[in-house]
Amino acid sequence: MSRRYDWLIVGAGFTGATVAERLARGLDQRVLVIDRRDHVGGNAHDRRDESGRTVHPYGPHIFHTNSRRIFDHLGQFTEWRPYFHRVRGHVDGQLVPIPFNLDSMRMLFPAGMAERLSERLIAAFGFGARPTIADLRQAGEDADLKFLGDYVFDKVFAAYSRKQWGMEPEALDPSVTARVPVAVSRDDRYFTDRYQAMPRDGYAALFQRMLDHPNIHVSLNTDMAEVAPSRFDRMVYCGALDDYFGRVAGALPYRSLRFERQVVAAEAGLPVGTVNYPNEFDFTRVTDFRHLTGERGETTCLLTEYPIPHEPGRTEPFYPIPTEASQALADLYRAMARTLEGRVWFAGRLADYRYYNMDQAVGRGLSLVEKALAPAILKAAA
Ligand code: FAD
Ligand code: UDP
Repeated sequence: MSRRYDWLIVGAGFTGATVAERLARGLDQRVLVIDRRDHVGGNAHDRRDESGRTVHPYGPHIFHTNSRRIFDHLGQFTEWRPYFHRVRGHVDGQLVPIPFNLDSMRMLFPAGMAERLSERLIAAFGFGARPTIADLRQAGEDADLKFLGDYVFDKVFAAYSRKQWGMEPEALDPSVTARVPVAVSRDDRYFTDRYQAMPRDGYAALFQRMLDHPNIHVSLNTDMAEVAPSRFDRMVYCGALDDYFGRVAGALPYRSLRFERQVVAAEAGLPVGTVNYPNEFDFTRVTDFRHLTGERGETTCLLTEYPIPHEPGRTEPFYPIPTEASQALADLYRAMARTLEGRVWFAGRLADYRYYNMDQAVGRGLSLVEKALAPAILKAAA
């Protein structure tokens, strides 16, 4: 265990694994990747449960991106299975398409009313548009649009967001609810990105292939504190930003989740990948993995997500909570992080304290290597 490395990468999720692969394969660097968990993949990790079904133990992970470059980059490590995620929301006793769309209206309102509201919506935004709920609520004085904006906010966003974030939705950065628009169409796909697919053999296999290189050594069940600084020249840190600095300026807020997993008969599964429960219960959503994985059989695995407060050391920091105050505190830590550049770089959903999707984590890793790490290597060699 006394071997020396050019780089220590803390965290074996999409960001850390992308950086490690590019450093090792692209720049011939010797890399030690560590993770305090007993597996690679970070929150995108998947595994087989006792019934042989693939599950995502940290919540459902659906890959989608508009970046051909990122899709092709990951395509070196996996075959893809095309998959369009579909979500229904339980609203007024019915399972309606989410994003809320013209069919959701048809299911929830009397025919004449649904038609009139659809016409108003199309006139205001254009057919095919995907306004945010904030756009819809600010659409002007039209009484129908005002009614619709309030209805969708109340029935789809308000209570879900309170559950998910433990705060009033107005206190959140608007980019959070903007992730799920209103669809002025009958398109019931959750995402509209150009590339939507699942790794055919799962995420664990993808990560294994990405990290399979003679220049990469992976050490699991290993915390950063256990690696002597003398064993590496430079570090990329993908853990929680405030954690690195011992929370000296105060704890950054994160939201955590508790999961409940259930194996049920296939007939008792869900009609689509995920059902959201904006208004009832303490959980936000239930996912039926057979839709995501394409696996068929007599049983299927359901995962229910219960949002809970994050307690450092006891729960996982799954979501940064984007508010004005948290961004100000993160800025302070970011300024501290910049003083370490040259020896330590911070990147990833936790270390950047940004609500990244998987493709953004990969993009962050790729651009970090190109724009900062490769130049640093060249400079040191000169
Ligand atoms: P992470 O995956 O969080 O990896 C960080 C790793 O660092 C962890 O494994 C952690 O154990 C390790 N670590 C931290 N501190 C230390 C330390 N001190 N020492 C050693 N190791 C340490 N994205 C999508 O694109 N589509 C989805 O459908 C989707 N669904 C999601 C559902 C949920 C419930 C959640 C929470 C996220 C979802 N995401 C989704 C986002 C996705 O998980 C992230 O974008 C991605 O995993 C971020 O990768 P990362 O490497 O930056 O961080
Ligand atoms: N949201 C909501 N109702 C829904 C779906 C989403 O209020 O039915 C809001 C909620 O605030 C949520 C955010 O939109 O946290 C982003 O949703 P997304 O599905 O992208 O969340 P993630 O998959 O990242 O948990």
